[in-house]
This record gives sequence, structure tokens and C-alpha cells, in this order.
Amino acid sequence: ARPVRLSVQLYAYGDGRHLLLSRDITSLEQAEAMRRDFVANVSHEIRTPLTVLVGFVETLQTLPLEEDERKRFLGLMAQQATRMQSLVQDLLTLSRLEGSPLPARGEWTPLAPLLRQCEDEARALSDMVTRKSGQAHVLEFPPASAVQIDVAGIPAELQSAFSNLISNAIRYTPAGGHIAVTWTSHADGSATFAVQDSGRGIDPEHVGRLTERFYRIDRSRSRETGGTGLGLAIVKHVLQRHGAQLHISSILGKGSTFSATFPAQRLRAHAIGFTGN
Ligand code: ADP
Repeated sequence: ARPVRLSVQLYAYGDGRHLLLSRDITSLEQAEAMRRDFVANVSHEIRTPLTVLVGFVETLQTLPLEEDERKRFLGLMAQQATRMQSLVQDLLTLSRLEGSPLPARGEWTPLAPLLRQCEDEARALSDMVTRKSGQAHVLEFPPASAVQIDVAGIPAELQSAFSNLISNAIRYTPAGGHIAVTWTSHADGSATFAVQDSGRGIDPEHVGRLTERFYRIDRSRSRETGGTGLGLAIVKHVLQRHGAQLHISSILGKGSTFSATFPAQRLRAHAIGFTGN
């Protein structure tokens, strides 16, 4: 049994009759609590970079700094501003996704070029993240010939969901680690997109909560690599709109796999000989 919050009203008619009205307001209260949490989280996420920015502005205004030092400060300020920009961007994306209905089918989106773009972005991100250590990630993508398929949906959304999962794999896997992106077709016509990493892995107690807005296991690690804590919430929404559920399996210290299976009716294989161009 779960605890329930009831709103109870008793009406007396004066002739001895009474009317008792009770309403289950559990979900109403839960929604209200979630909204409050969300506003508190957003405020906190915006306040932190803003405080840093204001601090730097004041320093620049009051202290006579050497040119080098001034440049370093401006660089740090740009970093904080970019962080706020990503946060606002993700918030807008999330509210747009939550507010708009499921797309009927979208358009047939060729998978090969979409994954190609994900791969280019992934290599650039991996280079950036691992520049200091000098040791790159091993990134594996399916060859174009294995993904001559169209997915019904909204291309930009699919691209952002896939890229998000891949960038998480890179950001939470130490340099030199292994990241494999796969596309597996099943006998019933459905197919699974998966991103497997050899990274830090996730404790089972966190797995179920990762798609909550702002839920992060290691706040500082997430911030360090430019995370907003909204990525997986967005991914979950996008996948749901495309008929797929996000599935997470992970072993702490060994790595994680994030996957989504698309139903057959959302997929269309290319005819033999069609190059997809
Ligand atoms: P963030 O912007 O913090 O990365 P996400 O919503 O994308 O936000 O992810 C939420 C949290 O899930 C991350 O902060 C991180 O703790 C965890 N996480 C996501 N992907 C991975 C992964 N591949 N390996 C380990 N932990 C991950």
C-alpha cells in the first residue's frame, strides 16, 4: 500500500443529510513538489555561474591586471557564460518536447549520414577531452553499409539523442577507453541503437534515476565536462516520441550500455543498390 493524500469536504444540508466529498490529491501534490524542485534546481544552476561571472567582472573593474592575467579571466568568464547558454538551450529543448504532442511519423531520415555526423562530433569531442592526456578513446561506429536504413522521425531530434548518449560515453570514460556504437536489426523488423562504453559504470542505485532532470552522480565531473544534467531527460523524451524506450545497463567500474529499440513500423530498409544519397 502507498500513502495517499486526501482532500475531504463535508457538507451539511440542515435536514440531517450530509455529503462527504473526498479527492485523492496525491499526484497533484507530487506534481507541485516536482515543480518546486525544478525551479529550485534551475535557480541554483544559473546562480552558480552567475556568481562566478560577477566576481570576475568586479575583479577586472577594480584590480590593475597584467594582460596575460586579464586574458585568463576573460577565458574563465566565457566558460561560465557558455555554461549558462547550454543550460538555457537544454531547458528550452525540454520544455518544447514536453509541450508538443508526439509527431505522427515525422520524415524518413537516412541513418547512415546521421551516424556519420555523430561520429565526426564524437571524434572532435574525444580529441578535446583527451588532449591533456595525449591518449585518445577507441571509437567504433558501424560501417555505412550496415546502416542503409531510414528511421521515421525528426532528424534533428534523433541526431541530438544519439549524440548525447555518445558524448556521455566519451565524457564518463577515461582516456584510452573504448566506445562502441552499434545498430542491430532483429528478426521481427525492429532494431536497436546502442552505445557501449568501458567507462566508470553506474551504481545500480542510480540507474533508475539518471533520466530525472538535473540528476547527476558526480556534479563536479559533469560540470567539468560541460554537462547540464538535462541530457538524459531530453534523450528519454526524444526516444519516447520515436516509439523507443531508453534502456540502461551498467556494471560499476566496468562500463555502461545505453540502448533503444525502434519498432519495425518506424524503420524502412533501403532497396539493394540504393546509396542513400
Ligand atoms: P550530464 O550533463 O550531467 O552529463 P546527463 O543527463 O546526460 O547529464 O546524465 C546524467 C548523469 O548520468 C551524469 O551526470 C552521470 O553521472 C551519469 N551518466 C550518464 N552517462 C553516463 C555514462 N556513459 N557512464 C557513467 N555515467 C553516466
